[in-house]
Amino acid sequence: MAGTRFAYVRNFELPDSVIPSVYLVVRIDGKGFHKFSALHSFAKPNDPSALELMNTAARHVMSSLKGHIALAFGESDEYSFLLRKSTTLYNRRESKITTHIVSLFTSAYVFNWPRFFPNTPLQVPPSFDGRLVVYPNEAVVRDYFSWRQADTHINNLYNTTFWALVLQGGLTEQQATKQLEGTVSSDKHEILHSRFGVNYDRLEAIFRKGTTLVWTHATAEVPAIPGKDEEESEDEGTVLVNAKDEKLRRKLQGKRADKQAKKQEKKERKERTAVLRTLHCDIIGDEFWLPAPSPPTI
Ligand code: ATP
Ligand code: ATP
Ligand code: MG
Ligand code: MG
Ligand code: MG
Ligand code: MG
Repeated sequence: MAGTRFAYVRNFELPDSVIPSVYLVVRIDGKGFHKFSALHSFAKPNDPSALELMNTAARHVMSSLKGHIALAFGESDEYSFLLRKSTTLYNRRESKITTHIVSLFTSAYVFNWPRFFPNTPLQVPPSFDGRLVVYPNEAVVRDYFSWRQADTHINNLYNTTFWALVLQGGLTEQQATKQLEGTVSSDKHEILHSRFGVNYDRLEAIFRKGTTLVWTHATAEVPAIPGKDEEESEDEGTVLVNAKDEKLRRKLQGKRADKQAKKQEKKERKERTAVLRTLHCDIIGDEFWLPAPSPPTI
């Protein structure tokens, strides 16, 4: 209640707005999912239903915060959400943005659980943590997503080889761990190929590349530079100092208002027709980020 003698405690709340014009990434990660996945008998190394549930929860976050989040990338029990650098969501307050995204994601995960695991009731309420990191420019944003996708690859290659040794090779988990100690990428490819007849590169893309969610135009064939904000070029107008130019000034103002309204309409139309795409493609190379024939929605 405002105006009481207690209201001063409000002053203990510190501002935590993030500076304008920088990219924000919120990464959420399942708490103790090693145990959680075992408890709910996730298939190893990759349970497709568990991944689809993560993707569904992430799509819920993106739809709920349409216009604020441009892109998301998920693997295993984590998801990264890229907020537009122009976003004014919660006045860019860090704690509000992070907690809201974590909460949206978690509730959607629980809400949709029965759709993906109809025969496996939830044993415990799952939880996720979240952090918000500020990235100053597009180059670092790209490196951030490359880092996450490289991580997907490294983990997946390891896990695929590990579980092949255990499930098909009859090794114990300890023996498999030992066998993989000190191996490099090519050794694991070789083990998979020669001992289990598995061509790693032919495994499902969702396992190898993770999942990328991106808003695009309905007509766009290729997703492009979703992290990049379209620069709003402000019309400076003509500075008129002479009073007799008042009429002309009004006319120009009218034109400007017209232009503004048209711009707004265009933006809204774009948002209405935006389609959320789910991809399992490479996002480390240039192709994904290059401008496509149809520009991205966000
Ligand atoms: P922390 O609380 O520190 O995040 P964690 O147990 O969640 O601990 P992570 O490093 O986040 O550890 O790893 C998540 C683990 O969840 C993976 O190692 C894997 O065992 C399991 N996991 C997540 N998604 C899947 C999936 N789709 N299929 C099989 N296992 C999964
Ligand atoms: P914001 O998203 O800004 O928090 P809000 O709609 O949640 O907006 P609050 O100031 O948090 O607004 O107020 C919560 C509102 O939820 C209350 O004003 C009331 O209308 C409703 N509400 C919450 N709990 C109850 C309850 N137990 N019984 C009836 N109404 C409730
Ligand atoms: Mg963690
Ligand atoms: Mg985790
Ligand atoms: Mg994790
Ligand atoms: Mg409220």
